[in-house]
Amino acid sequence: MNISSTKKYKQLRLSIAAALCLGSPLLPGTAAAVAAGSDAQKVAPPSALSAKIDSKAREIESKLIAWRRDIHEHPELGNQEKRTAKLVADHLRSLGMDVKTGVAVTGVVGVLKGGKPGPVVALRADMDALPVKEQVDVPFASKATGTFLGKPVDVMHACGHDTHTAMLMATAEVLASMKDELPGTVKFIFQPAEETPADFEPDGTNTWGAKQMIAEGVMDNPKVDAVFGLHVSSSYEAGKLYWRSGPAMAAADQFWVDVKGRQTHGARPWQGVDPIVVGSQIVMGLQTIISRQSNLALEPAVITVGTFHAGNRMNIVPEDAAMTGTVRTYDEGMKKDIHQRIKHTAESIATSANASAKVKVVELYNAVVNPPDFTEKMGPTLRRVAGEGNYDLQPKSSASEDFSFYQQKAPGMFFYLGVTPKGKDLSKAAPNHSPHFYVDESAMITGVRAMSNLAVDFLSMK
Ligand SMILES: [Zn+2]
Ligand SMILES: [Zn+2]
Repeated sequence: MNISSTKKYKQLRLSIAAALCLGSPLLPGTAAAVAAGSDAQKVAPPSALSAKIDSKAREIESKLIAWRRDIHEHPELGNQEKRTAKLVADHLRSLGMDVKTGVAVTGVVGVLKGGKPGPVVALRADMDALPVKEQVDVPFASKATGTFLGKPVDVMHACGHDTHTAMLMATAEVLASMKDELPGTVKFIFQPAEETPADFEPDGTNTWGAKQMIAEGVMDNPKVDAVFGLHVSSSYEAGKLYWRSGPAMAAADQFWVDVKGRQTHGARPWQGVDPIVVGSQIVMGLQTIISRQSNLALEPAVITVGTFHAGNRMNIVPEDAAMTGTVRTYDEGMKKDIHQRIKHTAESIATSANASAKVKVVELYNAVVNPPDFTEKMGPTLRRVAGEGNYDLQPKSSASEDFSFYQQKAPGMFFYLGVTPKGKDLSKAAPNHSPHFYVDESAMITGVRAMSNLAVDFLSMK
């Protein structure tokens, strides 16, 4: 996840990491500011249970931190979260919930039935870690190793999913303590592999994480009426909340371009077809899809060619060149259009040079879009939880999140929780996915209060 922005307009750090999940915010515009202000900065009045939520959260804060440290010290890669899943499942059972395990490989789902009738709200956390070697000097730093795509790797919770899991465990405990007073049902979703699984690469036929949880029925029985999720971010000060209405995080898609030329001697290129030169033209051509052909006044978009492989010797024109890349978009129509143009551009450039290009585009994650009416309804709760001066408009992020798939099944809202210690220069804070990614644990109680209050306020709405 993540790269950083301090105050809304001050910085722009674009860096599209290979990994998914959070990323750099793009410059927010006037339209965005208007959208975020559309609910007129309303603050919800305290609910019947909000004081109780706050005191219960405070009461279990030391447990929350202990869970987070334990999970942090024992990170597990996507679809391998066995230890974490057991910790979660044991905890949910101890709270008296119906618990399902092994959902989408290692996912855990707990259902808390309130004492009064009402709707169903889902709260979601992700449990997976990343192939990163931790460089943070804390006593509970990870020394864990794992296997990623067949290779041994060090493993670290460099995206903060350890905090998400711990915060949702604490939220479960808070809400279970007021079970009889809850007007409806709360579903706790602990999903694996948000960052993709450790044992396979996406190829357009496989599913994982949120998508697989949904395929296995997590949004049904009982049917979920609303869903909430959060992500910790180094871009913001510890304990502050950020969100936006409408497109908030980009869709992420992957493409492959395989160029076939004709091999020849490097001294006599006219006797063959050079796939490196053709491939290079394709790289440049793809950039003009964004700069010359996409309506950037509608939404921004990014194409990045991340790998380019060809040849094995300086004086041989090789037969083939192969590249892969990522596309980030916020608008579904623009996304489909860009996919078409990638294919057309690569194939046409290759044809013009008597080469050929095979293009494959696979949709990975949809854009995270917070529905404006739903965001307007729930924003006042987040403002009450954060308190004056502790929330703001989230700039668009060009990274991605598979929370987007839950949002296709029910109204859903995704927001950010800052975790960089107060007073630290936010532009220098190590971003999510960095081996130096650091979490100020004092922020986590705000995450627990936010999730608990969102659940209760949603259930209480008529
Ligand atoms: Zn991430
Ligand atoms: Zn993440």
